[in-house]
Amino acid sequence: MSECNHDCSSCSSKCGEEKQDMRLPANEYSSIKKVIGVVSGKGGVGKSTVTSMLAVAAQSKGFQAAILDADVTGPSIPKAFGIHQRAQGDEQGLFPAESKLGIRIMSVNLLLEKEDAPVVWRGPVISGVINQFWQEVIWGDVDYMFVDMPPGTGDVPLTVFQGLPLDGIIIVTTPQDLVTMIVKKAYNMAKLMNIPVLGVIENMSYFECPDCGKRHNIFGESKIEEIARELGVPVLARLPIDSKTADLTDKGAAELVNTDVLNALIDKLAD
Ligand code: ADP
Repeated sequence: MSECNHDCSSCSSKCGEEKQDMRLPANEYSSIKKVIGVVSGKGGVGKSTVTSMLAVAAQSKGFQAAILDADVTGPSIPKAFGIHQRAQGDEQGLFPAESKLGIRIMSVNLLLEKEDAPVVWRGPVISGVINQFWQEVIWGDVDYMFVDMPPGTGDVPLTVFQGLPLDGIIIVTTPQDLVTMIVKKAYNMAKLMNIPVLGVIENMSYFECPDCGKRHNIFGESKIEEIARELGVPVLARLPIDSKTADLTDKGAAELVNTDVLNALIDKLAD
């Protein structure tokens, strides 16, 4: 049986009288204007870093931003924002944590007794938690929700693609050889689900020498223009390797990372 791609016009499945839409309703106290998934074909390319930067850029521009940390087995968002307390809730739902700038965040790390405890859950349990973050968290009014998606194209990302009403996805990549194929896999998965691919961001794209300003391609020549052309999507940004980005994120000060390069993108997302 093929997976539901929300396009009933091209589907022969009989899902009862009404064709089935697997997208879940949000909590009744949530009003979320745009939901953007941040995906990568593999871990370690900076997907969570870019998710944080997008939220910081949006919040700094006066929008209400939120991050749903769907990277359940490798949750890094609360730590990046220096949030270590546990989430609170009442009979109506769970309250997201708030960063210093006011970005609303929900992550499995806010629910664990010990934030360094490993999450050794099977796929369906992980998918269930992500759906709960959408349905049972009182997000309030949000302009942009960025979903830090689980890496890869397996079972869990597939469930997120099906369950959350994503307005589009942004693919994060690095200039390494193998990455080309992986980006295409992520792209094809989104297409299969009928979710628009807003474009690609190449992270760790180059290193700019602080003394002479010369750019060095540490991870090889950038292939991002080529990949984007092939897929017919725009290059949204190229981010340098920057030790300050890593240091600040590591110290829980993600809000101090320079996000100027993403400002124009935030304006475009509003369209
Ligand atoms: P992913 O979410 O794809 O697994 P992360 O965002 O956790 O990746 O990033 C992996 C590591 O790379 C982290 O230590 C992070 O601080 C670092 N990193 C990410 N982007 C950059 C960058 N542009 N410059 C320097 N270090 C980066």
